[in-house]
Amino acid sequence: MRPSDSNILNGSKSSSIEAAVSALRDDELVAIPTETVYGLAARASSRTAVNKIFKVKGRPSNHPLILHIAKISDLEKWTKDLPNVARTLVDHYWPGPLTIVVQRNEKVCDEITGGRNTVAIRCPDHKITTELLKRLDDAIVAPSANRFGKVSPTTAEHVASDLGDDVKFILDGGECAIGLESTIIDCTTTPPQLLRAGAITVEQIKTECLITVVPASGESRASGMLDKHYAPECKIELFDDRMRAETRLLELRQHGTTSEILDFADDLAQYAHSLYARLRDADERNIEVIIAVKPISAGIGSAINERLQKAANRS
Ligand code: AMP
Ligand code: MG
Repeated sequence: MRPSDSNILNGSKSSSIEAAVSALRDDELVAIPTETVYGLAARASSRTAVNKIFKVKGRPSNHPLILHIAKISDLEKWTKDLPNVARTLVDHYWPGPLTIVVQRNEKVCDEITGGRNTVAIRCPDHKITTELLKRLDDAIVAPSANRFGKVSPTTAEHVASDLGDDVKFILDGGECAIGLESTIIDCTTTPPQLLRAGAITVEQIKTECLITVVPASGESRASGMLDKHYAPECKIELFDDRMRAETRLLELRQHGTTSEILDFADDLAQYAHSLYARLRDADERNIEVIIAVKPISAGIGSAINERLQKAANRS
């Protein structure tokens, strides 16, 4: 059954932002648009509100949440001992799709970090959410606004069909510009480590900031680092080139399996932007197999391939 859309508010109206701020102050959850994906937001200073996120998402309590702030100067309110690497990264990329992991201060509650002494933090680049954060005068914590392990939402309608009335309001800010979750860099290690690939790449960081970021090692700290994540109902098969994908399509169709090809040729930005919407759409139309042609692993292509691989893993 399709849940009611009545809690979707037009995010470009001042009154909608006001209603969302007031709900957050009352410890309710609100879905918010960002340039990456839609977030399920709770007021960061309220343990009650933060706990609701885990319940609604079905997310294990040891998976820490990302804190979202309005501006760079709010960093000091929630962190301590900021390393130079973190400073350089935020000066270059905030507001934007980059999350840093740094030492937290005592204002950050254990529920947010899963008891760790570090916190993940970012400054989103979306005018509706920036305005909301300014009026709230607090930070929010916001994982993606979907049930744990499933495909992230990139429109307000996706959030409504996943979470329905479990969220007080959904602020509609249109389609997310990027469509994939933020890059996460752990700045507490030397050298810094990439915990999740995103629109901002390690190659770009090397060129623009002269900082070398290495692959993550050690325990699995980001939920995106689980082997299976971002999973639709349909099966996903990955192919390196279009011709093989077409051969496979014929084969599957001959066996009566409903299937289709996902391919954006060289348009990496469009691939990222549309990937999750296409997977959701395939599920709605009961497609059994998506045959995905992998993009080149350059730029945001690495992040797309990472998501595709995890979505393809069945266990
Ligand atoms: P999500 O909310 O699903 O976009 O994921 C947020 C990601 O940030 C998760 O994968 C977390 O595990 C990761 N994260 C949040 N806080 C920390 C932290 N203190 N240390 C390492 N990773 C973190
Ligand atoms: Mg998520």
